[in-house]
Amino acid sequence: MTTETPHVLISGGGIAGTALALRLVEQGIRTTVVERAEAPREGGQVVDLRGASRVVAEQMGLMPGIREYQLHEKGIAYIGSRGAVYARMSMEDYDGKGAVAEIEIARGDLHRVLLKRLDEASGAAPGLLSLRYGEHIAALEQNDDGVNIAFASGAADRFDLVVGGDGVHSATRRMGVGPEEDFSTYLGGYTAFFSMPTPAGIEPGWFTMRAVPGVAVGVRPGPDPDTSMVLVMIRMDRHPALRRDRAAQLALVRRMVSAAGWHAPAMLAALEQSQDFYFDELVRIEVPDVSHGRVTLIGDAASSGSPLSGMGTATALIGAYLLAAEIAASPDDVVAATSRYATAIAPFSEAGQVLPGGGIRFMVPRSTVGSVMSQWVMRVLVSRALRPTMKRMVGGGQNTAPALPQNDPVGHH
Ligand SMILES: Cc1cc2nc3c(=O)[nH]c(=O)nc-3n(C[C@H](O)[C@H](O)[C@H](O)COP(=O)(O)OP(=O)(O)OC[C@H]3O[C@@H](n4cnc5c(N)ncnc54)[C@H](O)[C@@H]3O)c2cc1C
Repeated sequence: MTTETPHVLISGGGIAGTALALRLVEQGIRTTVVERAEAPREGGQVVDLRGASRVVAEQMGLMPGIREYQLHEKGIAYIGSRGAVYARMSMEDYDGKGAVAEIEIARGDLHRVLLKRLDEASGAAPGLLSLRYGEHIAALEQNDDGVNIAFASGAADRFDLVVGGDGVHSATRRMGVGPEEDFSTYLGGYTAFFSMPTPAGIEPGWFTMRAVPGVAVGVRPGPDPDTSMVLVMIRMDRHPALRRDRAAQLALVRRMVSAAGWHAPAMLAALEQSQDFYFDELVRIEVPDVSHGRVTLIGDAASSGSPLSGMGTATALIGAYLLAAEIAASPDDVVAATSRYATAIAPFSEAGQVLPGGGIRFMVPRSTVGSVMSQWVMRVLVSRALRPTMKRMVGGGQNTAPALPQNDPVGHH
């Protein structure tokens, strides 16, 4: 069924899927997106754009929208046992190369910016985009000249290319590439996010963190000064049953937030009311070759260093950009396009798997002695003399990721 302009199916309407749909529609390529949720999922913490992902955001024409929602975080402050700051890293002192970057935006707002651009692009080219919520792939069968898809709704269709942008636990990857266990490595903990009314005493504009044995809790400024985002990182062995048990997830987060003290009462109250509670295990996703003929992967489905890397959104945007460019370069040969894309994305995927300071051990101490030591080490590390070392440690792969290849069929300079 090879045609000059292919019909592409994207599974997952998150950051990666929406960005890819935008690029494809702009390039005149027929695109169907199926998103399992009934509506866009707007939750999430602050994500940052630097280096190649910032260039991609510019090339995609996202910057005017991003500037509307851009957060102005001043930096990160670490809170000790008596509630006082014992170390801080300001955005300026680290030139946006520390834990806080120059361009920061809430994940949900970035998603909103992408959806608005997609709406404009599809309005300018009617008939190219079909975006369906509450739908997902039930079965996938690839042969030499197309992919047959059975949808959960009972509909069936045939596509030239299927792209899995359906996140860390990608069903497209399971059906089209291989089982999750082949690509996933547990990184020693869990993470949860939810929003709360900004507690009294939080320094405006600062991402404030407190770590005690087993858990680190952070309060991060949100788009509206009255609302903050809570980040919880829990260091523990894997409990597979937690994956689908919302009540057990909430019970664990309640227990760990209580253990951290500090703003725990206000956090626990917010948790009970939360509409945007997000919980997942911390895993690394590594797929050695993301091109599988007419099935390929982008975003977290293809590669992830977990939210600890801070690189998920950046890598998702870059992947969408590179894959769309390769499809545009050979629209009548999507298999060759996905093979070139797999080579182009590999160095970015690798950079996205580097964890700041080596991962959860750096962020969450295991014991009281470890907690005292890590505070002492942090005080030393944030000294002026050690700023270059600290940039390397907390910037993870973000500051060392490669530059973007120069291929922009639909530029927005
Ligand atoms: C609600 C939410 C909050 C998040 N918060 C944070 C955060 O605070 N910090 C952070 O670092 N990362 C967060 N992430 C992950 C982050 O968005 C990704 O690491 C990154 O942006 C890469 O994007 P992605 O599109 O690959 O994955 P995602 O943004 O996770 O998008 C995947 C999409 O696929 C959909 N989906 C899943 N399964 C199927 C299926 N079978 N069929 C169709 N659709 C499916 C999901 O509903 C989701 O919309 C969050 C993700 C979500 C969904």
